Amino acid sequence: MSTNFIPRRSSTRCEPSDSKQSGEVPMSTNDQLLALRQKYKQTLPATLARIGILAESLVEGTSHEDATPDRTALSEALHKLAGSAGSFGLPALSAQASRLDRQLEQLLAADPQDDKYGLWIGRLVAELRALSHFAQTDRLPDDHYVSTAMNSPTQGLEPEVWLLEDDELLGSSLVSHLEAFNFTARLFTSYADLSAAFAGQQPQVLVLDILLGTEGRSVDRLRETGLLKEAHSRLIFISARDDFSARLQAAELGAEGFFIKPLDIPRLVTRVEQVLTRLHAPAERVLIVDDDELLAQYYQELLTRAGMQVEILHDPALTVETLERKLPDIVLMDLQMPEISGQNLAAVIRQYDQWMGLPIVYLSAEHDPAQQLRALNQGADDFLTKPVDDAHLITAVRSRVARSRQLLELMTKDSLTGLLKHATIKESLKREWAMAKRKGETLCVAMLDIDHFKQVNDRFGHATGDEVIASVATLLRQRLRATDILGRYGGEEFAVVLANCDASAAAALLDDFRRRFQELQFSYEGESFSVTISIGVAEYRPGMEVDADALLVNADKALYQAKTSGRNRLQVYGG
Ligand code: GH3
Ligand code: MG
Ligand code: MG
Repeated sequence: MSTNFIPRRSSTRCEPSDSKQSGEVPMSTNDQLLALRQKYKQTLPATLARIGILAESLVEGTSHEDATPDRTALSEALHKLAGSAGSFGLPALSAQASRLDRQLEQLLAADPQDDKYGLWIGRLVAELRALSHFAQTDRLPDDHYVSTAMNSPTQGLEPEVWLLEDDELLGSSLVSHLEAFNFTARLFTSYADLSAAFAGQQPQVLVLDILLGTEGRSVDRLRETGLLKEAHSRLIFISARDDFSARLQAAELGAEGFFIKPLDIPRLVTRVEQVLTRLHAPAERVLIVDDDELLAQYYQELLTRAGMQVEILHDPALTVETLERKLPDIVLMDLQMPEISGQNLAAVIRQYDQWMGLPIVYLSAEHDPAQQLRALNQGADDFLTKPVDDAHLITAVRSRVARSRQLLELMTKDSLTGLLKHATIKESLKREWAMAKRKGETLCVAMLDIDHFKQVNDRFGHATGDEVIASVATLLRQRLRATDILGRYGGEEFAVVLANCDASAAAALLDDFRRRFQELQFSYEGESFSVTISIGVAEYRPGMEVDADALLVNADKALYQAKTSGRNRLQVYGG
């Protein structure tokens, strides 16, 4: 998904303050590749800042003739970025650049007299400036942006969501809801149009109404025409009736959602987001600890081809350090190594609370079941006997990682919003604060609280209230950087941690979020309503005598001020 970005006033703030040098001479092609990637990442901030500056040529008031060379340069820069970022392990940036490139092209061809022209320009400029957030790769595990999507044929598919809905009114309303949440959406009112469009492109998510007036049922059409045979789009169906046979047909086509009219639009939007998130789940990060270099390389090659990120460690003594640096999703470990046994190494890993849940799988030539059992008793999760079948290894790693990610989500994330739970967001803040202090960076914390939320519950019911809460989360995710930390602090209170970001940048982007949120239309039994939110922001600057807890208190005080001075506003602490 290419939507984790934010509009910001300045293109120089919230950027990494240090750019690391890659000192060593690369030895293997793999190292060379990594060194090249590292180099590329170092040049990124400058490239993205330049795009931010060129974007100014789009702003109103810039006369057409003067701005033309800059606009051409902007288009070229986006084009180049779209091409290069993917090859250097940043597919999300690449997809975003190519999306913006296309939008720019459309915009330059559009009629400036159009009512919405100013709005389009504003959005595009904000998104162009926000590209600079992709430069902030230094706080991510290596190649964080390399997602499984890179190896899947869905990469680069645009626009994100296509809708087939013959009820044009409903269709347009869905499109505008999706756009409000920053998804790119396109409406088709007939199957014929949809299948014609498939000739050139395919969407990432396809939402189809089952019953299409004169054209019959979309499920039947899809089967007859084999439209999806070559496609990799994810499917969601909408139906006027809840009948089993339609559900079954949808399931057979691999649908990931089935929604009954009247549509619960916020729930549908949330589902679209979930599907896209799954589609772009980061690659499995695997750490192999094995003294057999060649075999380790073989596993690495195999798993890398399956789309995973694989690291080899030959010296077991460096395991804990490597875990901290690489944050793997799983460890594959040899049982017999010269210096230390795999069993003992697993036991050492389990001494650390944070690695308690890390899946450890032994790869070993040990065939004696009694030995295997003993090894498993010391904290490993599975035992694969060498030589391990290729397909078996890939499946074992994938399923273990998927399962452990699920468990981790359950433990740390709130089920209604998918945001971090109270305790986890507090832990994350502590960690980010310590890092900011160490690196001498600025950090911001924001507390958000929905205004008069009791009234929403009283008038429209608790379930509708829940929808509003979920929408806050969805919009936050859409508007903020992938590296920002978002939590549900309490019932209708949220906390956001913005690393490497000062108060004015944080205020600008959260105030933009606030304005967008108040524009969302919710509905209850035909009555539509909107909701507002108040925000308090507190800043930590290097040298300040403020710890993580005190920062939260400050943000809360600012929030209280925002509430008492009229609500639906943002207040910076001490500002
Ligand atoms: P204010 O503008 O001062 O924040 O007014 P408010 O009505 O939002 O006041 P307050 O924060 O005291 O009320 C929060 C309400 O949110 C009370 C509680 O019933 C409701 N609430 C808390 N958690 C949930 C939830 O998970 N779902 C729903 N629907 N409501 C919740
Ligand atoms: Mg509250
Ligand atoms: Mg409230």
